[in-house]
Amino acid sequence: MLDLIKKSYLCTPMDRMDGYIVDLKGMTDDAVSHRWVLMGDFFSAVQGKEISNGQVDVALRVKRTSEAFDLEFQYEGVVEVECDRCLEPMDQPIQGTCSLRAKLGEEDDDDGELITVAETPGTLDLAWHLYEMLALEIPIRHVHADGECNPNVMECLKPQNAEKPVDPRWAALEALKTKINK
Ligand SMILES: [Zn+2]
Repeated sequence: MLDLIKKSYLCTPMDRMDGYIVDLKGMTDDAVSHRWVLMGDFFSAVQGKEISNGQVDVALRVKRTSEAFDLEFQYEGVVEVECDRCLEPMDQPIQGTCSLRAKLGEEDDDDGELITVAETPGTLDLAWHLYEMLALEIPIRHVHADGECNPNVMECLKPQNAEKPVDPRWAALEALKTKINK
């Protein structure tokens, strides 16, 4: 996994996110499929704060009905997030499904349940939707497996004074100072 993440760093970050635009108006069949592998270039272009990197397979099926477009996503992979305990990057496996509903209308709008896509050009940019879908899947508490946190930070987090728990951010700073002074 780490090797794959490192490799994705070698790609030039995308300035344009054209690759995640779905043409709804131009659909020639009543159902189409898309597939993406979201990697480092995607996460650096989106610039969300929760996920800095990752590799996630996403499959999308778009079905056109008489009144709307139903988008069904399926995803599975690993995202890199900050560990709640030691603040170092950690791999968080995620998988799940998600659905969106969209229709063509006069102008772009999103009321949380139904996305309205302006008839011209009739395309839906999914980059941010894809990111949000993954970010929502991250467990509220995400930490390294026991024993895999940064040992320097963990050392500073050890209770020296039971009444005064150490803020992990200070602990991270302490660990850095220790490292520099070595
Ligand atoms: Zn950790």
